[in-house]
Amino acid sequence: MFTKDQPKLRNWINGQFVDPVAVGAGSGSGSGSDGTTTTTTTTTVNDYLPVTSPHNGKVIGQVPISTAADVQQAVAAATAAFPAWSGRTVKDRAQILIRFHGLISKYADQLADMVVLEHGKNKTEAMASVLKGQETVEYAMSLPQLTQGKSLEVSRGVTCCDRREALGVVASVVPFNFPVMVPMWTLPIAIGMGNTMVLKPSEKVPFTMCKIVELLKEAGLPDGVVNLVHGTADAVNALIDHPDVKAVTFVGTSHVADLVSQRCHKLGKRVLALGGAKNHMVAAPDCNLEMTSQDVVNSFAGCSGQRCMAASVLLTIGHQQALLDKIVAKAEALRPGSDAGQVGPVIDQVSLDKIKRYIDEAEAGGARILVDGRGWTREQPEGFWVGPTVILHTNKHDAALHDEIFGPVLSILAVESADEALAFENANPYGNAACIYTGSGATAEYFTQRFSAGMVGVNIGVPVPREPFSFGGWNRSRFGNHCDITGDGGIEFFSARRKVTTKWVRQENASWMS
Ligand code: NAD
Repeated sequence: MFTKDQPKLRNWINGQFVDPVAVGAGSGSGSGSDGTTTTTTTTTVNDYLPVTSPHNGKVIGQVPISTAADVQQAVAAATAAFPAWSGRTVKDRAQILIRFHGLISKYADQLADMVVLEHGKNKTEAMASVLKGQETVEYAMSLPQLTQGKSLEVSRGVTCCDRREALGVVASVVPFNFPVMVPMWTLPIAIGMGNTMVLKPSEKVPFTMCKIVELLKEAGLPDGVVNLVHGTADAVNALIDHPDVKAVTFVGTSHVADLVSQRCHKLGKRVLALGGAKNHMVAAPDCNLEMTSQDVVNSFAGCSGQRCMAASVLLTIGHQQALLDKIVAKAEALRPGSDAGQVGPVIDQVSLDKIKRYIDEAEAGGARILVDGRGWTREQPEGFWVGPTVILHTNKHDAALHDEIFGPVLSILAVESADEALAFENANPYGNAACIYTGSGATAEYFTQRFSAGMVGVNIGVPVPREPFSFGGWNRSRFGNHCDITGDGGIEFFSARRKVTTKWVRQENASWMS
């Protein structure tokens, strides 16, 4: 399967690419991708996984399945770098982020091309994801202003001030669907606050972050402050279990987010684990047909539906044929490809099979397939292509209406009232995003107050809160004991507050209250 032309990726430890540690013969235990514990026999070399191009299914690289020994190296480098890095002023650290920001601008096109290659997004989406990641760097550049502590004379001659201290080595585990943007949700704020980091990219999209760490070095980041360890569940578990890792962020499916969160809790570690989603959009009868139909199609088909913020269920209050007609026309007009406005492939064969299975099952159960993307798989047998698909359900129990499909599939269900729409949305276990399409402020407010979701859109189907706001859902879309990600949630997560109370001069006649 592998040839010498396919690059073999290496971990980035202490400012350089290094081969994974060769594992001696023997046996050990770890967790499989379903979270179960497995016993493995190791060989004298590390194993690699193929990285496949979603466009044509061809192998484009090999990613090491790093072990606890690799994690140990990375954490040791991050631990060694921590005293000097956290000892710098936040203004000094921000200077490096400012240079990094400039380098992202310089290499944005190359980074976007890498995202297109390994992930399959179209070029416009890929560029937008790079720029959105850069926006978090921009936010972190302002940490000197954002993290000024409070100071107050709390008693006569006694001053109390609030300082934020770095935690130490932190770990960031990221999913496949945004190779640059999601790592940038954590990295700039984490290191800007003085922490050092070990990041584990998704084994499905490991290339782009290898370029990012080179840019960090070019920006002047000291060796060891950011390290990359490639791999799968074993590397993640080794990171969580490492006693020198003080906090863990995770973004991925809810099942794994829950596992990661529980494992951290058992060890008493700070954890923020963002999970999957099933986002509901509600179309009120007074919604603007043109704006709503375009927004719904952008939301469910953009990035091939591989966004935790993608629309996947549209509840229409009453049957709205005119809206359906417009959605169908717009979805049918979309073509496969990598140019602006085109729809790229999904990540792999497993994902493609899963998406088609949900469509097949809905159809078999009596749903009408208004737009059928399964034709794209036949037209393009190479790669992992499935077109935008619109399903009109009559059975509320169809699995496509309830499970996260993570593909360009929109499920539509007509309900009779606003409260029936809310009951349906509230009953779903996730709580990432929800959206109300309406021309009425009162209707918008009614839904905004009642949706069971952390991020609500009014006439916006991908209601991503941009900096300085934080990102994060509710319910089974977020696990852990700490805050949202990005924005002020990121500052809170990646620092510990220290309160310092100071007195230099004894005050005459001071009581404990004065
Ligand atoms: P995933 O859960 O399969 O993998 C995420 C990361 O966890 C990867 O780095 C992977 O190597 C690692 N991993 C996999 N199995 C593991 C295990 N058993 N133990 C420890 N680590 C393990 O997710 P994915 O398929 O890469 O990403 C898609 C998912 O991410 C979707 O569910 C999507 O909704 C979600 N997502 C959520 C958000 C959010 O903000 N809530 C953002 C982006 C993506």
